[in-house]
Amino acid sequence: MVTLLHGTPVVPGIAYGPTLVASDAVPAEAVAAYGDGGHADVDAALAAYDAATRAVADGLQRRAASAAGATAQVLTASAGLTTDRGLRSAVSKHLRAGEDLVPALGAAIEQFVTVFTTQGGLMAERATDLRDIHGRVLAHLVGAPEPGVPTPEEPSILVAEDLAPADTAELDPSVVLAIVTERGGPTSHTAIIARQLGIPCVVGTAGALDLAAGVRVLVDGTAGTAEVEPDEATATERVAEHRRQRAALEGWSGPGSTADGHPVKLLANVADGESARTAGLEPVAGVGLFRTELCFLNRDTEPSVDEQAAIYAEVFTPYADEREVVARTLDAGSDKPIAFASHTDEDNPALGVRGYRLCAGNPGLLERQLDAIAEAARRSGVATSVMAPMIATPSEARAFATLARARGLRAGVMIEVPSAAIQARQILDEVDFCSLGTNDLTQYTMAADRMATDLAHLTDPWQPAVLHLVSLAAAAGRAADKPVGVCGEAAADPQLAAVLVGLGVTSLSMAAAAVRSVGARLGDLTLAQCEAAAAAALAAPDPASARTAATTALA
Ligand code: PEP
Ligand code: MG
Repeated sequence: MVTLLHGTPVVPGIAYGPTLVASDAVPAEAVAAYGDGGHADVDAALAAYDAATRAVADGLQRRAASAAGATAQVLTASAGLTTDRGLRSAVSKHLRAGEDLVPALGAAIEQFVTVFTTQGGLMAERATDLRDIHGRVLAHLVGAPEPGVPTPEEPSILVAEDLAPADTAELDPSVVLAIVTERGGPTSHTAIIARQLGIPCVVGTAGALDLAAGVRVLVDGTAGTAEVEPDEATATERVAEHRRQRAALEGWSGPGSTADGHPVKLLANVADGESARTAGLEPVAGVGLFRTELCFLNRDTEPSVDEQAAIYAEVFTPYADEREVVARTLDAGSDKPIAFASHTDEDNPALGVRGYRLCAGNPGLLERQLDAIAEAARRSGVATSVMAPMIATPSEARAFATLARARGLRAGVMIEVPSAAIQARQILDEVDFCSLGTNDLTQYTMAADRMATDLAHLTDPWQPAVLHLVSLAAAAGRAADKPVGVCGEAAADPQLAAVLVGLGVTSLSMAAAAVRSVGARLGDLTLAQCEAAAAAALAAPDPASARTAATTALA
């Protein structure tokens, strides 16, 4: 019987090959030989710790210098975490309590892992980075090679508990056919970098670590499955079919529309200058979501207006050819902690002071960012809109629009809180457009943490309750004759994209890599088919039936 492992799909694609299992263990013999380290006193042990952390941090910095974009950022963040003063003082405390260096290091790391895990969200995902740092520092102490991903001798499927930034940064897509991890969520570093490299990826896959090295596996990055020792001929044919489909997509050149000519603007989600340049080469009508906060994840202090303007202009410039850009103002807090903006003392950060709510206590932060965006728009000459995240009421929308329009910017808001979907009509009276953030809209509608691996059945983007809220907002857009788009991950699924169009959304913004498959799918369907699929999905009792009903309607 063929074993089928299930996980969270992160990067679509089909791959088939032997497994290569990454190990994060330092050889036990080396650790045993090191023993108590023979340090004369606590200061000598700390000096050995400092030398090891310095060596690890330098290595990470070197790799960061030869990487770019998000990869460089995560490597730099790991280097910073390695030499963190809090971590060092925790090690020192254990040493002073009489422990040897190796157990002191292990205890301090576990202490930090617990703190990060308790905070949840993005912080919890940094626990993987800490464990990676532990392995590397330990390896330096005991004189063993740093653990990590072995170099594949033939094209392989990489299997790991989770991959740390330092491992993923150096992956070569020509030999790593796919990635399957036992842990991690859709926003873990593994996911971010796999997406950037275009390597099919499934995370949070129960049983992945039980796979023996060399066993042949068929990975489906769309379904989120790994099939162990499948029928060879079928697996090879699925890979070939996937290649044919990808080749056919290369011919799709936009603009987005249904087969009967109903226009649907297809836009890109970007995070920085590099991703904006790459996305700009795809057949997109512009940027539908520039997540500005991702430029500042590693900043301790707020960048000046001028520095911000330079960063934003780099993102806008590739679209100076008459395309448009929507910049979202800082969505700091909760899963995206920004040192200079987020509140850190909240019991429930996802329901706390995040996104637009931050400006109540710090109005200058939003105003300075809007000044910088307006300046970048002027420098680049790009038609620029701004939108606020986490808007919950029409009066928040009005206040935001007033600030944006005073700077000559077109004003919109995200609809990612259920109250905003319910009051979309009143909100649209205040702004020029709305964009549905289906990731958070699903989290808040279903009361389920979007990053919890064990709640993935609730945070499924096909949840009919969420589609009902999308439908409400889209109808408000039609009534107000103003655009209502989707910029959450739901827009990147070609079948769901057709349903969203059938519900009446006017634009879809997604990872650039998904644009051609969504565009090609919409081009195969009439608006009436999309509407029938939308009606079928709305009438379904659960996500699986919604998907099946929509698929039947679209066949
Ligand atoms: C969303 O919530 O759907 C969204 C697009 O915003 P983010 O994923 O950045 O929270
Ligand atoms: Mg959101």
